[in-house]
Amino acid sequence: MPELPEVETTRRGIAPHVEGREIVEVVVRQGRLRVPVPGDFVERLVGARIGPLARRAKYLLIPLRAAEGGKLGEVSSSATLLWHLGMSGSLRIARLGELPRKHDHIDLVVDGGVILRYHDPRRFGFVDWLVGGVECDPRLVRLGPEPLSETFDGERLYRLSRGRRLAVKPFLMDNAVVVGVGNIYAAEALFLAGIDPRRAAGRISLERYERLVAAIREVLAAAITQGGTTLRDFVSGTGEPGYFKQRLNVYGRHGQACRRCGGELRLVNLGQRASVFCIECQH
Ligand SMILES: [Zn+2]
Repeated sequence: MPELPEVETTRRGIAPHVEGREIVEVVVRQGRLRVPVPGDFVERLVGARIGPLARRAKYLLIPLRAAEGGKLGEVSSSATLLWHLGMSGSLRIARLGELPRKHDHIDLVVDGGVILRYHDPRRFGFVDWLVGGVECDPRLVRLGPEPLSETFDGERLYRLSRGRRLAVKPFLMDNAVVVGVGNIYAAEALFLAGIDPRRAAGRISLERYERLVAAIREVLAAAITQGGTTLRDFVSGTGEPGYFKQRLNVYGRHGQACRRCGGELRLVNLGQRASVFCIECQH
Protein backbone atom coordinates (compact mmCIF):
# COMPACT_ATOMS: atom_id res chain seq x y z
CA MET A 1 0.00 0.00 0.00
CA PRO A 2 1.41 3.45 -0.85
CA GLU A 3 2.31 5.15 2.41
CA LEU A 4 3.46 8.70 3.08
CA PRO A 5 6.98 8.26 1.60
CA GLU A 6 5.58 6.76 -1.61
CA VAL A 7 3.12 9.63 -1.99
CA GLU A 8 5.90 12.15 -1.35
CA THR A 9 8.13 10.31 -3.83
CA THR A 10 5.29 10.46 -6.35
CA ARG A 11 4.85 14.19 -5.77
CA ARG A 12 8.55 14.86 -6.30
CA GLY A 13 8.69 12.55 -9.30
CA ILE A 14 5.80 14.00 -11.26
CA ALA A 15 6.03 17.68 -10.23
CA PRO A 16 8.78 18.76 -12.68
CA HIS A 17 6.79 17.29 -15.59
CA VAL A 18 3.40 18.83 -14.88
CA GLU A 19 3.83 22.01 -12.83
CA GLY A 20 3.04 25.13 -14.86
CA ARG A 21 1.63 23.00 -17.66
CA GLU A 22 -1.80 23.36 -19.23
CA ILE A 23 -4.13 20.37 -19.33
CA VAL A 24 -5.08 19.86 -22.96
CA GLU A 25 -7.03 16.61 -22.75
CA VAL A 26 -8.50 14.37 -20.07
CA VAL A 27 -9.31 10.71 -20.61
CA VAL A 28 -11.32 8.75 -18.04
CA ARG A 29 -11.39 5.05 -19.00
CA GLN A 30 -12.81 3.91 -15.68
CA GLY A 31 -14.55 6.42 -13.43
CA ARG A 32 -15.80 4.01 -10.79
CA LEU A 33 -13.08 4.41 -8.20
CA ARG A 34 -13.65 4.34 -4.42
CA VAL A 35 -15.38 7.68 -4.93
CA PRO A 36 -16.70 8.07 -8.49
CA VAL A 37 -14.76 10.54 -10.61
CA PRO A 38 -16.69 13.86 -10.36
CA GLY A 39 -19.16 14.47 -13.19
CA ASP A 40 -17.58 17.82 -14.05
CA PHE A 41 -14.02 16.45 -13.95
CA VAL A 42 -13.19 16.57 -17.66
CA GLU A 43 -15.04 19.81 -18.35
CA ARG A 44 -13.35 21.72 -15.54
CA LEU A 45 -9.87 20.36 -16.12
CA VAL A 46 -9.40 20.95 -19.82
CA GLY A 47 -7.67 24.31 -20.24
CA ALA A 48 -6.64 24.57 -16.60
CA ARG A 49 -3.04 25.17 -15.59
CA ILE A 50 -1.35 23.04 -12.91
CA GLY A 51 0.21 24.86 -9.94
CA PRO A 52 2.80 23.63 -7.41
CA LEU A 53 1.93 20.13 -6.19
CA ALA A 54 1.56 19.60 -2.46
CA ARG A 55 0.90 16.71 -0.12
CA ARG A 56 -1.10 16.37 3.08
CA ALA A 57 -0.83 12.99 4.82
CA LYS A 58 -1.33 10.48 2.00
CA TYR A 59 -3.26 12.92 -0.20
CA LEU A 60 -1.64 14.49 -3.21
CA LEU A 61 -2.94 18.01 -3.83
CA ILE A 62 -2.94 19.37 -7.37
CA PRO A 63 -3.84 23.08 -7.51
CA LEU A 64 -5.33 24.37 -10.75
CA ARG A 65 -5.83 27.79 -12.26
CA ALA A 66 -8.31 28.55 -14.97
CA ALA A 67 -7.02 29.45 -18.40
CA GLU A 68 -6.68 33.16 -19.15
CA GLY A 69 -10.09 34.78 -18.70
CA GLY A 70 -11.73 31.41 -18.14
CA LYS A 71 -13.48 29.92 -15.19
CA LEU A 72 -12.77 26.68 -13.42
CA GLY A 73 -16.26 25.72 -12.45
CA GLU A 74 -19.18 27.88 -11.46
CA VAL A 75 -17.72 30.71 -9.47
CA SER A 76 -14.01 30.44 -8.94
CA SER A 77 -10.95 30.66 -11.12
CA SER A 78 -9.04 28.14 -9.07
CA ALA A 79 -9.63 24.69 -7.60
CA THR A 80 -7.58 21.84 -6.21
CA LEU A 81 -7.67 18.14 -6.94
CA LEU A 82 -7.34 15.78 -4.01
CA TRP A 83 -5.84 12.49 -5.12
CA HIS A 84 -5.57 9.40 -2.93
CA LEU A 85 -3.72 6.33 -4.19
CA GLY A 86 -5.73 3.89 -2.09
CA MET A 87 -4.28 0.39 -1.80
CA SER A 88 -2.70 -0.07 -5.20
CA GLY A 89 -2.82 3.25 -7.05
CA SER A 90 0.08 4.99 -8.74
CA LEU A 91 0.53 8.16 -10.74
CA ARG A 92 3.31 8.23 -13.28
CA ILE A 93 4.51 10.15 -16.25
CA ALA A 94 3.91 8.67 -19.69
CA ARG A 95 4.83 10.08 -23.08
CA LEU A 96 2.23 11.03 -25.65
CA GLY A 97 1.50 8.00 -27.82
CA GLU A 98 2.39 5.53 -25.09
CA LEU A 99 -0.53 3.11 -25.01
CA PRO A 100 -2.38 2.60 -21.73
CA ARG A 101 -1.96 -0.68 -19.91
CA LYS A 102 -4.70 -2.57 -18.13
CA HIS A 103 -5.93 -0.59 -15.07
CA ASP A 104 -4.65 2.74 -16.43
CA HIS A 105 -7.90 4.53 -15.57
CA ILE A 106 -7.21 8.24 -16.01
CA ASP A 107 -4.92 10.35 -18.22
CA LEU A 108 -4.32 14.05 -17.80
CA VAL A 109 -2.57 15.09 -20.99
CA VAL A 110 -0.58 18.29 -20.56
CA ASP A 111 1.10 20.50 -23.13
CA GLY A 112 4.58 19.38 -24.07
CA GLY A 113 3.58 15.80 -24.86
CA VAL A 114 3.40 14.47 -21.33
CA ILE A 115 0.65 12.40 -19.74
CA LEU A 116 -0.02 12.13 -16.02
CA ARG A 117 -1.42 8.60 -15.88
CA TYR A 118 -3.32 6.99 -13.02
CA HIS A 119 -3.08 3.23 -12.60
CA ASP A 120 -5.05 1.36 -9.93
CA PRO A 121 -5.85 -2.37 -10.19
CA ARG A 122 -7.94 -2.51 -7.01
CA ARG A 123 -9.63 0.90 -7.48
CA PHE A 124 -9.55 1.86 -3.80
CA GLY A 125 -7.98 5.18 -4.71
CA PHE A 126 -9.93 8.24 -5.82
CA VAL A 127 -9.68 11.76 -7.16
CA ASP A 128 -12.06 14.50 -6.10
CA TRP A 129 -12.25 18.27 -5.68
CA LEU A 130 -10.86 19.70 -2.48
CA VAL A 131 -13.70 21.29 -0.52
CA GLY A 132 -12.99 24.74 0.95
CA GLY A 133 -9.21 24.52 1.30
CA VAL A 134 -6.73 22.30 3.12
CA GLU A 135 -7.82 23.63 6.53
CA CYS A 136 -11.54 22.96 5.96
CA ASP A 137 -11.96 19.89 3.75
CA PRO A 138 -13.79 17.26 5.85
CA ARG A 139 -11.32 14.60 4.76
CA LEU A 140 -8.34 16.62 6.01
CA VAL A 141 -9.63 18.69 8.89
CA ARG A 142 -9.18 16.13 11.65
CA LEU A 143 -5.73 14.98 10.59
CA GLY A 144 -2.84 15.32 13.02
CA PRO A 145 0.43 17.06 12.13
CA GLU A 146 2.86 15.95 9.44
CA PRO A 147 5.56 13.71 10.96
CA LEU A 148 8.38 15.68 9.34
CA SER A 149 7.02 19.06 10.47
CA GLU A 150 8.03 21.15 13.48
CA THR A 151 4.60 20.79 15.07
CA PHE A 152 5.16 17.09 15.63
CA ASP A 153 7.33 16.40 18.67
CA GLY A 154 7.79 14.17 21.72
CA GLU A 155 5.82 16.60 23.84
CA ARG A 156 2.74 16.06 21.65
CA LEU A 157 2.93 12.26 21.91
CA TYR A 158 3.50 12.50 25.65
CA ARG A 159 0.56 14.86 26.18
CA LEU A 160 -1.93 12.94 24.00
CA SER A 161 -1.01 9.57 25.52
CA ARG A 162 -1.43 10.36 29.22
CA GLY A 163 -3.94 8.03 30.81
CA ARG A 164 -4.20 5.84 27.72
CA ARG A 165 -3.84 2.08 27.95
CA LEU A 166 -3.79 1.61 24.19
CA ALA A 167 -0.55 -0.02 22.98
CA VAL A 168 1.94 2.50 21.63
CA LYS A 169 1.98 1.05 18.10
CA PRO A 170 -1.74 1.56 17.29
CA PHE A 171 -1.49 4.90 19.12
CA LEU A 172 1.21 6.02 16.64
CA MET A 173 -0.83 4.78 13.70
CA ASP A 174 -3.81 6.96 14.68
CA ASN A 175 -4.07 9.75 12.07
CA ALA A 176 -5.38 12.18 14.66
CA VAL A 177 -2.12 11.80 16.63
CA VAL A 178 0.23 12.08 13.65
CA VAL A 179 -0.33 11.29 9.98
CA GLY A 180 1.59 8.94 7.76
CA VAL A 181 3.05 6.52 10.28
CA GLY A 182 1.80 3.28 8.76
CA ASN A 183 2.48 -0.27 9.88
CA ILE A 184 5.97 -0.55 8.39
CA TYR A 185 7.20 2.78 9.71
CA ALA A 186 5.67 2.35 13.17
CA ALA A 187 7.33 -1.06 13.57
CA GLU A 188 10.70 0.19 12.33
CA ALA A 189 10.67 3.39 14.40
CA LEU A 190 9.75 1.51 17.59
CA PHE A 191 12.66 -0.85 17.00
CA LEU A 192 15.10 2.04 16.49
CA ALA A 193 13.81 3.75 19.63
CA GLY A 194 13.98 0.49 21.64
CA ILE A 195 10.30 0.64 22.61
CA ASP A 196 8.14 -2.51 22.90
CA PRO A 197 5.14 -2.03 20.53
CA ARG A 198 2.85 -3.61 23.17
CA ARG A 199 3.69 -1.04 25.84
CA ALA A 200 0.77 1.14 26.96
CA ALA A 201 1.09 4.56 25.30
CA GLY A 202 0.35 6.25 28.61
CA ARG A 203 3.29 4.53 30.33
CA ILE A 204 6.05 5.94 28.14
CA SER A 205 8.20 8.85 29.34
CA LEU A 206 8.67 12.16 27.55
CA GLU A 207 12.34 11.35 26.98
CA ARG A 208 11.48 8.07 25.26
CA TYR A 209 8.83 9.80 23.12
CA GLU A 210 11.46 12.31 22.03
CA ARG A 211 13.68 9.42 20.95
CA LEU A 212 10.70 7.87 19.15
CA VAL A 213 9.96 11.06 17.21
CA ALA A 214 13.60 11.19 16.07
CA ALA A 215 13.32 7.53 14.98
CA ILE A 216 10.07 8.18 13.04
CA ARG A 217 11.71 11.09 11.22
CA GLU A 218 14.78 9.01 10.43
CA VAL A 219 12.77 6.08 9.02
CA LEU A 220 10.47 8.27 6.92
CA ALA A 221 13.26 10.49 5.61
CA ALA A 222 15.27 7.42 4.60
CA ALA A 223 12.26 5.95 2.81
CA ILE A 224 11.68 9.20 0.91
CA THR A 225 15.35 9.42 -0.06
CA GLN A 226 15.28 5.80 -1.18
CA GLY A 227 12.18 6.47 -3.29
CA GLY A 228 14.06 9.37 -4.82
CA THR A 229 16.72 7.06 -6.16
CA THR A 230 14.21 5.23 -8.35
CA LEU A 231 12.59 8.36 -9.77
CA ARG A 232 13.86 7.54 -13.23
CA ASP A 233 11.12 4.92 -13.37
CA PHE A 234 8.53 7.67 -13.41
CA VAL A 235 9.84 9.27 -16.53
CA SER A 236 10.79 6.16 -18.45
CA GLY A 237 7.42 4.67 -17.60
CA THR A 238 8.97 1.27 -17.13
CA GLY A 239 8.43 0.71 -13.45
CA GLU A 240 6.32 1.23 -10.41
CA PRO A 241 6.93 4.15 -8.07
CA GLY A 242 9.92 3.87 -5.81
CA TYR A 243 8.50 1.74 -3.08
CA PHE A 244 10.25 1.39 0.20
CA LYS A 245 13.38 -0.59 -0.38
CA GLN A 246 15.48 0.48 2.56
CA ARG A 247 16.81 -2.19 4.81
CA LEU A 248 14.06 -3.24 7.19
CA ASN A 249 15.02 -4.28 10.70
CA VAL A 250 11.79 -5.88 11.87
CA TYR A 251 8.88 -5.49 9.45
CA GLY A 252 8.16 -8.81 7.72
CA ARG A 253 11.09 -10.52 9.49
CA HIS A 254 9.44 -12.50 12.27
CA GLY A 255 11.27 -15.72 13.07
CA GLN A 256 14.50 -14.22 11.73
CA ALA A 257 17.42 -12.99 13.81
CA CYS A 258 17.43 -9.49 15.29
CA ARG A 259 20.16 -7.48 13.56
CA ARG A 260 21.18 -5.95 16.87
CA CYS A 261 21.23 -8.85 19.36
CA GLY A 262 20.81 -11.98 17.21
CA GLY A 263 17.69 -13.09 19.11
CA GLU A 264 14.60 -14.35 17.31
CA LEU A 265 12.12 -11.65 16.25
CA ARG A 266 8.59 -12.21 17.54
CA LEU A 267 5.20 -11.59 15.98
CA VAL A 268 2.26 -10.13 17.89
CA ASN A 269 -1.12 -8.78 16.79
CA LEU A 270 -1.86 -5.22 17.87
CA GLY A 271 -4.99 -3.45 16.72
CA GLN A 272 -5.50 -6.17 14.08
CA ARG A 273 -2.10 -5.49 12.60
CA ALA A 274 0.86 -7.84 12.64
CA SER A 275 3.73 -6.38 14.60
CA VAL A 276 7.24 -7.75 14.66
CA PHE A 277 9.64 -6.81 17.42
CA CYS A 278 12.62 -7.96 19.46
CA ILE A 279 11.83 -8.86 23.03
CA GLU A 280 15.46 -8.24 24.05
CA CYS A 281 16.00 -4.88 22.40
CA GLN A 282 12.55 -3.33 22.88
CA HIS A 283 11.12 -2.58 26.31
ZN1 LIG B 1 17.32 -7.64 19.49
